[in-house]
Amino acid sequence: MDKGILIVLSGFSGAGKGTLMKALLKTYDNYALSVSMTTRSPRPGEVDGREYFFSTKEVFEEKIAQNGLIEYAEYCGNYYGTPRDYVEKQLAAGKDVILEIEIQGMRKVKKMFPEMLPLFVTPPDAGELVRRLRGRGTESDEAIAGRLSTAIIESEGIEDYEYIVVNDDLESCVKEIHAIVQAAKRAPARNKEFIKTIREELKLLSKGE
Ligand code: 5GP
Repeated sequence: MDKGILIVLSGFSGAGKGTLMKALLKTYDNYALSVSMTTRSPRPGEVDGREYFFSTKEVFEEKIAQNGLIEYAEYCGNYYGTPRDYVEKQLAAGKDVILEIEIQGMRKVKKMFPEMLPLFVTPPDAGELVRRLRGRGTESDEAIAGRLSTAIIESEGIEDYEYIVVNDDLESCVKEIHAIVQAAKRAPARNKEFIKTIREELKLLSKGE
């Protein structure tokens, strides 16, 4: 009953998804975080292969052509995509695999894996989001304005997610995400094999076999 599930975590840029994911992975050992490929330039401090696999548009498009991405989307003028190999390997190894992707990607993943668990992370209020974006100190006013107008559009899609997680206090937010995942793994829709097996066993036993 405890096989891995696919989790999609979305949220406004600046909601603190990166920090949350680092803390979640440090606290629990059942998670694997997929590293996406992107054509955006690295921010100061970002390392190729850790935050993202940074690539050119040409290399990205080659990867699409080879069916090497589970999904990809264009966001604020750049490509972002999920490499297929890592996700499939980690799921097969029983890990709960997290994709930290935006809403278009979530919708594509949902079509392929209807049992995946979509979570939406948000700061407690909009003012806090602006403070966090400014506090990063790595983006121009223009880029911040772009991310805010994207956030308005993204807020229209929140109902497509199964749970909202408010990132106020890091530690309690990490615990909450883990609790949601543990509960979600008990949903009948994510345990079809278990249900099928127990039904078959019941029938066999009732026949005295
Ligand atoms: P950022 O540039 O702030 O790192 O990411 C911008 C947005 O792209 C975020 O909402 C992030 O979740 C999303 N994103 C990152 N990787 C992927 C991916 O592989 N696919 C999709 N669809 N979105 C992604």
